Amino acid sequence: MCVFCEIIKGNIPSKKVYEDDNTIAILDISQATVGHTLIIPKKHSKNLLEIDEKSYLDAMLVAKKVASAISKTSNDVLGFNLLNNCNEVAGQTVDHFHIHIIPRYKKDDIKLEFIDNQGKFDLDSIAKKIKENM
Ligand code: 5GP
Ligand code: ZN
Repeated sequence: MCVFCEIIKGNIPSKKVYEDDNTIAILDISQATVGHTLIIPKKHSKNLLEIDEKSYLDAMLVAKKVASAISKTSNDVLGFNLLNNCNEVAGQTVDHFHIHIIPRYKKDDIKLEFIDNQGKFDLDSIAKKIKENM
């Protein structure tokens, strides 16, 4: 059973903030920050690698629309992180593609940090490998 498919069917309750033919947006049950919302295509696909382009683009447009609405709810919403976890290694726990919209506040509990590996890798060979697979 896919929990998001059950939510889409209405078999599991959710706090829906937007719905159209292809996409729903619901409040994330865990609210990483106030307003944390999930954008979920109605058509089931596992992740970023498997989703069809139309469902993906529709979801991204809804993400923008919902982020814009959230930004109007409070002057304390200063920005957003848009996040997709693709596969378990990246933290995906629900195997139905979704985008997190995480509103950011001056003081919140989110810490997203990247290690600065500048100079440690051969960017030419990395770029070459990626381009070969486009
Ligand atoms: P993931 O870790 O797959 O990127 O994100 C899954 C998200 O779904 C988590 O943030 C989790 O809190 C949320 N979630 C899991 N089950 C439910 C549910 O039944 N209802 C809602 N609204 N969110 C859920
Ligand atoms: Zn599903």
